[in-house]
Amino acid sequence: MRIGSIINGTERVGEDRNTIDVINPYTNEKAAEVALASREDLDAAVNNSLEVFQTTMKKMPAHERSDILRRAAEILEEKAEEFASVIVEEAGKPIKHSRSEITRSIQILKFSSELAKHMTGEVLPMDAALRGENRMGIVKRTPIGVVGAITPFNFPLNLSLHKIAPAIAAGNTVVFKPAEKTPISAYMLVKLFQEAGLPNGAINLVMGTGEEVGSALVTHDKVKKITFTGSLPVGKTIRETAGFKKVTLELGSNSPNIVFEDGDIDQAVTSLVLGAFGFSGQVCVSAQRIYVQKGIYQEFLAKFIKATEELVIGDPRDDKTDIGPMITKEAASRAKSWIEEAREQGATIETGGSQDGTVLTPAIITNVEQKMKVVSDEAFAPLVSVMPFDTEEEAVSRTNDSIYGLQAGVFTKDIDRAMRVSDQLEMGGVWINDASTFRQDNHPYGGVKQSGIGREGVKYAIEDMTESKFIGIKLNP
Ligand code: NAD
Repeated sequence: MRIGSIINGTERVGEDRNTIDVINPYTNEKAAEVALASREDLDAAVNNSLEVFQTTMKKMPAHERSDILRRAAEILEEKAEEFASVIVEEAGKPIKHSRSEITRSIQILKFSSELAKHMTGEVLPMDAALRGENRMGIVKRTPIGVVGAITPFNFPLNLSLHKIAPAIAAGNTVVFKPAEKTPISAYMLVKLFQEAGLPNGAINLVMGTGEEVGSALVTHDKVKKITFTGSLPVGKTIRETAGFKKVTLELGSNSPNIVFEDGDIDQAVTSLVLGAFGFSGQVCVSAQRIYVQKGIYQEFLAKFIKATEELVIGDPRDDKTDIGPMITKEAASRAKSWIEEAREQGATIETGGSQDGTVLTPAIITNVEQKMKVVSDEAFAPLVSVMPFDTEEEAVSRTNDSIYGLQAGVFTKDIDRAMRVSDQLEMGGVWINDASTFRQDNHPYGGVKQSGIGREGVKYAIEDMTESKFIGIKLNP
């Protein structure tokens, strides 16, 4: 299969283009060949998106935008298995997790379809201000124009839709630059929107590398907003080069979880095994640090190791598989080298950490120190450190000892403690009695500190993809 960019509804796959191969991380087979976009293609995509914004999307009634999004949801429901298989193939995500990504993606489309009809503003009490008598003030929300959406490989459909669907709901157009490793689902998604009736050019797909096409999208003066999900170094570059654009950055973390003595140990174990090792830890809110109160530390650790060793490792196409490959052999080798470095610095590897090509077995690490990479840097791999603590104050301060702050998990039955600790954690979100990893698609989601800027979750993304416009009327009584 040879695929390419789609600009104004037309595919650009010319033989003269440079290409990259999409490689199945488990079988190592070629899944597709991608014809890369040039800088000229990018310019054409942005110019066309601006034209379609001005001539079509800006004027499209809310009920039409809503209908298109609902139809897209229905088509995705019909094609769910096809999309899930593609995510298995391009990302190596186990089929059961790929299916759940599709289910969540359908929800994003449905939420967006509903919210397209609820872009309300407000009427201001103008006479609250001196000289405000006989004046009327209206605040409207208006679309901003061309949105540049840049996405990572790990949730190729869900995270792309967290940008594209709210942008369409708000009446914007989108230039979409998906991850190089997972462009097939992106290509299918743009085709799906065509089938759902979205006008040509309302989403333009540019296939290219981050360095060449991504960076040119970020600096393009006709793009009004960049919404990016990916790593911290790229996020920093985007922040520095985006100029006057609005920027949403959804970056990484070394997500913490705290298990208190009054928490439900079995519930914590079940949530955290999935939370630490789901999709081989290649999840931005993957549980990477687990702080366990001393009185239950040994019991928790024993149960956590046992449950981890029961995970089924193997072919991601198999329904029973819990853990498949990482995205590349290099990613697995890098994580393996962090585990070895921690071991040399005195850590104990309680289980896992052996590598076979792209597959790294889930590793539980103890006797760690804050300075070790496995604790302080984002691992983005199937590894987790389990650390004992004494007091609530200690747990809070060690949890906050990070450059990141995306989501945390807290396991406790004490409601007062739950609220006290949540208030003190420097995080974009806190889950009580679930792992840091859990996410729904309708709550505000995003980080503080170096985990990012702005929030997604359909309603919150729409807020960031619109401008408020004030219209004042001087009335003649
Ligand atoms: P990445 O940063 O390497 O790439 C993400 C995207 O950015 C890709 O499309 C890439 O082509 C593009 N890119 C690269 N260089 C660019 C540049 N100079 N200018 C513009 N675009 C550029 O990330 P990845 O390896 O695909 O994904 C893993 C990272 O994503 C992890 O750090 C993870 O924590 C993060 N992530 C965050 C969230 C979140 O919601 N906070 C969700 C998923 C993943």
